[in-house]
Amino acid sequence: MPRPARACSAYLIQHGGNAIVADFGTGAFSNLRRHLSFEDLDAVFVSHMHADHFIDVVPLRYALKYGERTNDRKVALWLPPEGEAMLRAIVATFPRESRHDFLDEVFDLREYQPAGITQVGALNVRFAPTRHYIPTYALRCEAGGSSVTYSGDTAPCDEVVALARSTELFLCEATLLSSNAEYSPRGHSTAREAAEMASAAAVKRLVLTHYSTASDPATMLAEARGIFHGDVVVADDNATFEAGDT
Ligand SMILES: [Zn+2]
Ligand SMILES: [Zn+2]
Repeated sequence: MPRPARACSAYLIQHGGNAIVADFGTGAFSNLRRHLSFEDLDAVFVSHMHADHFIDVVPLRYALKYGERTNDRKVALWLPPEGEAMLRAIVATFPRESRHDFLDEVFDLREYQPAGITQVGALNVRFAPTRHYIPTYALRCEAGGSSVTYSGDTAPCDEVVALARSTELFLCEATLLSSNAEYSPRGHSTAREAAEMASAAAVKRLVLTHYSTASDPATMLAEARGIFHGDVVVADDNATFEAGDT
C-alpha cells in the first residue's frame, strides 16, 4: 500500500531518448512527474494484474488526454497475456461518458508475448514467468550493452535467476520478513532469498524493493549482505541508479 511520500511499484528506465516504466502502481504517476514529462514516456510494461502494479494508468490516461501536451503520441501500454480483458472490464464500469475510447485514445494497448522480445526504440525487453499467485512476468531491459532486470512479484524462482544472469542492476522484491518465510502458498521472497537469487544470477548490484512498513531496511540489508557480496541497497522513492557507462 502507498504511505506518506511513498508509492507502490513503478520503475522508470531511461536510455538515450527512450523512457519506459516497469509497473505503474498507486502513486507512480505523481512520482513520475518529478523525473519526466508524462508525454515523453514511450511505454508502460505491467508485470501482472494486481492493482498495486498498474492502477496509475488511470491518472496517466487523464494526463495524456487533458494535460498540456506538445505532441499527440500514444503511449504503448504493454500488459501480460489476458491483462487486456481485465483492464477493459475495469474501465467498462466507469460512467458511460468517460468510457468511450477511454484507453484507446491515449494508449496503444497490447499484450506482450512472454517468450518474445519487445523493442521500444533502443531498448530491448524480455520476460520470464515468476512464482506468484496470478500469472506474473519478470522483465529484463537491455540497451547499449547495459541491463536492468526487475523481478516483479515472486517467490524464489529459477526462471527469474536465468533472466537476471549477469545483469548490472537487479531490482528484486523482498516482501516477506524472514519470520514469515514459511507461510504457504508462497508468492513472495525474503531479503535473504532475493540475495540468493542475486548471487545465483551473478548480478552486479541488487536493489531490494516491494517491502512493507513491517520491514526494517537495516535488517533487510544485513540479511542480504550475508548472502550476496556485490553492492546491495534498499529501494526508496525517487532513488536513481546508473547502469553501464551512460
Ligand atoms: Zn502481486
Ligand atoms: Zn505486488
